[in-house]
Amino acid sequence: MIIRAVLFDLDHTLGIDHNLEASVLEQIAKEFPYLISKDKLRASLNDFQSGKISLVKMFSSLFPDQDKIRLKTLVKEYKKKCLKKAAASFTPLPGTEKTIKTLLKKKIPLGILSNGWEELQKAKAQAIGFPGAVITSQEIGAWKPDPRSFHLALEKCDFFLSTTLFVGDSPEMDIAGAKRSGMAAGWLNPENKPFPVKGLDPDFILNSLVDLLQILF
Ligand SMILES: [Mg+2]
Repeated sequence: MIIRAVLFDLDHTLGIDHNLEASVLEQIAKEFPYLISKDKLRASLNDFQSGKISLVKMFSSLFPDQDKIRLKTLVKEYKKKCLKKAAASFTPLPGTEKTIKTLLKKKIPLGILSNGWEELQKAKAQAIGFPGAVITSQEIGAWKPDPRSFHLALEKCDFFLSTTLFVGDSPEMDIAGAKRSGMAAGWLNPENKPFPVKGLDPDFILNSLVDLLQILF
């Protein structure tokens, strides 16, 4: 296949945010007189991040005694704190900078498709100097691994299904999702794990992001 464009996952593919959202949520939860377990906080955050519930719903499930106005204030506070920490928290993974620089030099169009809320993912992408379009599930209303999210992202980026490679770390969200959407997929697998989703194997396995350069050139 000829690869003319690359669409990336963001978190744990291009960089890591050191549990930015979980730490902000834990910090907010500490302001309340009752204790919510870390597991419960993480589970709610997961539901939000995978598009199952909204932010308001996340807060109302964690703090059911709060009224609507207070919940809205919590959402605002949460977003503000996350955005404030984004630039300092998000750090590129080994190989990210070199890979992006080389792809840019070779004029390969790049994009990001990320499950997450728009301002935060854009701030994180900016923190590592990502030069392409950043498409978030919130913006397009479809979450990975739904094949629609991949199709909508391709459309937004003006990339073709048959000539775009998706690169991500999550076997289910990124690789199985991309394969189901008809895209080629490269799995970032630094720990050399066996691929766990039967029948939807990645086209390429990358030990590090720089392996992408060998695949493409
Ligand atoms: Mg990821």
